[in-house]
Amino acid sequence: MTLKVEAKKYRNLINGEWMEPASGKYQASVNPADTRDIVGYAPLSTTEEVEAAIAAAKKASHSWARLSPVARGEYLRKAADILEKRIDEIGETLTREMGKTLAEGKGETARGVAILRYYAGEGYHSIGDVIPSSDAESLLFTTRVPVGVVGLITPWNFPVAIPIWKLAPALIYGNTVVIKPALEATVTLMKVFECLQEAGFPPGVINLVSGSGSTVGNTIIEHPDVKAISFTGSNQVGRMIASKAVERGAKYQLELGGKNPSIITKHADLDLAAQLTVNAAMMSTGQKCTATSRAIVVKDVYDEFRAKVLEKVKQIKVGNGLDPETYMGPVASKSQFDSVLAAIEKGKAEGATLLFGGEALTEGELAHGYYIQPTVFEDVTPDMSLAQEEIFGPVLAMIKVDDFEQAIEVANGIKYGLSASLFTTRLDEAFTYMREIEAGVVRVNGESSGVELQAPFGGMKESSSHSREQGRAAMEFFTSIKTITMKA
Ligand code: NAD
Repeated sequence: MTLKVEAKKYRNLINGEWMEPASGKYQASVNPADTRDIVGYAPLSTTEEVEAAIAAAKKASHSWARLSPVARGEYLRKAADILEKRIDEIGETLTREMGKTLAEGKGETARGVAILRYYAGEGYHSIGDVIPSSDAESLLFTTRVPVGVVGLITPWNFPVAIPIWKLAPALIYGNTVVIKPALEATVTLMKVFECLQEAGFPPGVINLVSGSGSTVGNTIIEHPDVKAISFTGSNQVGRMIASKAVERGAKYQLELGGKNPSIITKHADLDLAAQLTVNAAMMSTGQKCTATSRAIVVKDVYDEFRAKVLEKVKQIKVGNGLDPETYMGPVASKSQFDSVLAAIEKGKAEGATLLFGGEALTEGELAHGYYIQPTVFEDVTPDMSLAQEEIFGPVLAMIKVDDFEQAIEVANGIKYGLSASLFTTRLDEAFTYMREIEAGVVRVNGESSGVELQAPFGGMKESSSHSREQGRAAMEFFTSIKTITMKA
């Protein structure tokens, strides 16, 4: 392949200006499909730069909040139009930076455009209720006001969609933002911010500070002027953010890990179930918080389902995401590579049977990237780490159960509760599952992965802070309610 040597040094956006990092230090963003390819350099910023961004956001806060939501929506609409023109380029950067296929990279960027347009339209919708007062002479109503400066901390697996699904509602409801993306995928978001900046947001309304979690992330979390923190990432970091936010009375929202089941009953359409389970487990190399990682299969159809899954997994073409033939790219980084392989070894040591895969791929061009075979285990029992711990890679654990009731029990026997799938042709099973399953995103005859931008998204149990993102649900987090009684 011909290597692109772009290797541009990116800058922070603070108070409407692109600023080089005061430290003069950068981290190379490396293509996980071919580590000889440097996608760009992300600034390693200091505490002072985060403080400057927060001060700028605070200064811009009042006048941004005083604009009408319709006027704020115009900025989002303009940003969407600019981003739309760069879908191919930014989609390709996304693929080079975190490894998912080009179709997924472009698809995610197009989703970013759609989210911006959706929230631009939100500027026309109602933000309060009129409530009958016990005093006939009074007008009792609610309205919603912005929270103020909000801090957004995002992971690397959806470097366009997740930042946009946080910042678009934050902005339309009148907040100003300081965002810190994951270092592994900062370049992609820098390009999205070039589009936002071109849309002409007033200085200080949108700020991006790149750097480490311990310096940049932590300063955002602890700063008294940051009134709300929206975080997507690991449970470990999420818990720490929650306790710090509670300590200083800040609002917080966490979207965390998952270990999502796909239940296959004896009444399932097995071709559909096998195809969608494999898609949900292996697309994006299993690095979606909503990916299927447990196939819970009723024993009557286990052998047939297993054969269909194996047939599909064997056909998976692993390679560089830029190659149109590729179904599954590399994992996103060296640390992902090490932790997924370690989880596979742990699974083997605990006594699960490796049905397919389980190895790194190092032949030819793949020698330069972080490639792992699509991996399927069977004889997994519900207590094994393969059935309990999030792996965040292309690993599917097959669990055989006696009946539908046991399938639900196993699906729920876990600390996570993000998404779930059921495959059945029976209405009674579908209704029982919809009632009993402990998950925030519930699918019947559909993949556990994927979200609809106009619908609430989030998990139950330890998968979230029990708040919801996206759709109109985002308004809860990014506003406060004022209850007003008015009398002449
Ligand atoms: P991570 O928790 O390591 O990092 C997420 C963000 O937090 C990054 O920007 C990182 O720099 C920052 N961070 C790290 N340490 C910090 C600290 N001490 N203080 C402040 N910020 C800090 O997660 P990741 O590896 O980027 O992402 C993978 C995880 O994200 C998985 O667990 C996955 O399930 C989860 N995820 C959840 C959802 C969801 O919506 N529920 C979506 C995508 C990913």
